[in-house]
Amino acid sequence: MSGNESRVQAISQIVNRKQMPARPPKRLEDMWATDVFSLSKMQESLPKSIFKSVKNTVQTGQKLDDSVADVVAAAMKDWAISKGALYYAHVFYPLTNSTAEKHDGFISVQGDGSVISEFAGKVLVQGEPDGSSFPNGGIRSTAAARGYTAWDVTSPAYVMETDNGMTLCIPTVFISWTGEALDKKTPLLRSISAMNKAATRVLKLLGNTEIAPVNSSCGSEQEYFLVDANFTNNRPDLLLAGRTLFGKPPAKGQQFDDHYFGAIPERVQVFMQEVEERMYRLGIPAKTRHNEVAPGQFEIAPVFEAANVASDHQQLTMTILRNTAKKHGFMCLLHEKPFAGINGSGKHVNWSVGNATQGNLLDPGDTPHSNIQFLVFCGAVIRGVHKYGPLLRAVVATASNDHRLGANEAPPAIISVYLGSQLEDIFGQISRGEVKDSKGRGIMNLGVETLPTFMKDAGDRNRTSPFAFTGNRFEFRAVGSGQSVSGPLVAMNTILADSLDWIANKLQSDLANGTELNAAIQTILKEVMDEHGAVVFGGNGYSEEWHKMAVEERGLANLRTTADALPVLKEGYIEDLFEKTGVLTPVELESRYDVYAEQYLLAIEVEAKLVTSMAKTIIYPAAVRYLAELSGTISKLKEIGIELEKESAEKVAVLLKSMMDTASKLSAALSKHDFASTEDHMQYASQTIRPLMDEVRQYADALEGEVADDLWPLPTYQEMLFVK
Ligand code: ADP
Ligand code: MG
Repeated sequence: MSGNESRVQAISQIVNRKQMPARPPKRLEDMWATDVFSLSKMQESLPKSIFKSVKNTVQTGQKLDDSVADVVAAAMKDWAISKGALYYAHVFYPLTNSTAEKHDGFISVQGDGSVISEFAGKVLVQGEPDGSSFPNGGIRSTAAARGYTAWDVTSPAYVMETDNGMTLCIPTVFISWTGEALDKKTPLLRSISAMNKAATRVLKLLGNTEIAPVNSSCGSEQEYFLVDANFTNNRPDLLLAGRTLFGKPPAKGQQFDDHYFGAIPERVQVFMQEVEERMYRLGIPAKTRHNEVAPGQFEIAPVFEAANVASDHQQLTMTILRNTAKKHGFMCLLHEKPFAGINGSGKHVNWSVGNATQGNLLDPGDTPHSNIQFLVFCGAVIRGVHKYGPLLRAVVATASNDHRLGANEAPPAIISVYLGSQLEDIFGQISRGEVKDSKGRGIMNLGVETLPTFMKDAGDRNRTSPFAFTGNRFEFRAVGSGQSVSGPLVAMNTILADSLDWIANKLQSDLANGTELNAAIQTILKEVMDEHGAVVFGGNGYSEEWHKMAVEERGLANLRTTADALPVLKEGYIEDLFEKTGVLTPVELESRYDVYAEQYLLAIEVEAKLVTSMAKTIIYPAAVRYLAELSGTISKLKEIGIELEKESAEKVAVLLKSMMDTASKLSAALSKHDFASTEDHMQYASQTIRPLMDEVRQYADALEGEVADDLWPLPTYQEMLFVK
């Protein structure tokens, strides 16, 4: 038997596979939100007074009245049963970036042995999953593992089709019996409410009288890889860690840029159609799809939605991508860096804030009056990103995202703001205390009349910035492709709430002292730029000069790894921020630090163990076989007087020995368990374990370049990226 049999089989399966047929074309209207128990479906099925009450709850996010809940539950159950559901599930979002659900049947057995389906209001509104195995950072001792899920009425229920059939899914928050948030949704809802309060204060002070609730919007671009399952099933690293821990770069990578925006392969096209159909049925507005930079890499983005719903929909999108891929014989990789030396995957989170009366508050508009409003909100963002830059870095810190941040295709780990030349110029003028009249009559103050109007869509882009203004929103580009968007949204909403409150306080006292509105705002914005302008940067974020300048001259943090970034969550000013905005209590914040640190350590430990076991049980045997073959041949030929050069055999032997020695060092390093603190442990993982893993890999990848291909057992980069 040859050593590469599984590879050969995989390729032949792929080449001979039956193509999934294209989806029959369907009208968008026939698919759209058919599986969502939307407001309009409620309106059809509920008595008028009940519907009014539900609608009010949905719009304000308050708890549903018990009597109302019973009626809603009955209607929801009837609808779900008509769609074929026998089970319902409270869906929640634990701190692991995953989606969790516990399924219960509608079944209720009667005294006479017959069954009816039942779904009471209190079951809709509240559930009690046994959440003891979700990481909670010590908020609940496992013995007292009581956690409650409660329906988040602002996110609609839906039926989800899986291999198990249809299930009614109810989006919920997940809280401990003492009321602490154990999930990612609760703080998101709180951050929206904090931001709404602060934004409303500012809007009032700016003279608005009618002010609708302010919400944040999110549109997230999801990058992912598709690799044929015939390959991934033969790659323990992809199965367990979601990324390749070994693999020599192929002769052809992405250097030709021939995949980016190229024609989507037919097989992938059929996959995408199914993904989009499933998204549409769930009311998720999938909008763009294209090939990404790397071979085998793609992107999908929806139209933006209210942050809370967008976040739930993003979780669903990741689930749908993974499940649909399986059906099509692919594995969908959401890891930030599945292949070394090849572009990684991110999730750009586009974020803006606005309401029904004032519109998008980050839209410059083209009239001077809305400019003032815009400049205040934009200034608030600048202040927030500067003051809490390290927090923004911490919320995107994961073991997997460390491979991407700071590497050449992704934004650097230094958090700065890109404004575009036009805005940069205007804020520059503000900080010099002068705004030039657009008609060129010299220097004036920031009167409404003299403020230059904006050109819509100044058009320039900067792909090297982690936090970029893109015309009417900010785009946070450092978010990892496998991450929940909730954490980043919580951070952005909360720092904005803090800045807006600071502005409102100043403005309030200035106005009370008789300062005129425009003069007051001009002073406040100047102060923002004086204190926080250092965060604005329009140049090349990848360059060495910037890294030096950012840290040495501007005092910005460069937190390269998760081990450097996560401890930010323990700092006093971050605790104050979350406490005063009511988004997270100190206990809740600490629990998040504990959970994320643990996840980081676990991720690296799993990978390190895999590195040693794959080196020992897969790569070593292959190389030994090759070496035996080689040295056997060399000595046989010698017997008949032919001297074959020994260098190749020597090279393999040396690499083999180095690989095994390093793998042993790695094993020994992993057995260290006495650390003074979690921070020390994380630094050890980042400074000692990771480099040893990389070293083992270096030798293994060099062996891949020496050992006979028909003895090599692992599917190669070339095969995984190019055979479709
Ligand atoms: P690009 O590749 O140019 O960044 P895409 O169209 O791929 O743009 O994605 C942009 C994302 O930003 C989409 O999800 C889009 O709906 C979203 N978006 C557009 N306007 C806003 C806004 N005002 N607030 C939040 N997200 C927005
Ligand atoms: Mg994009």
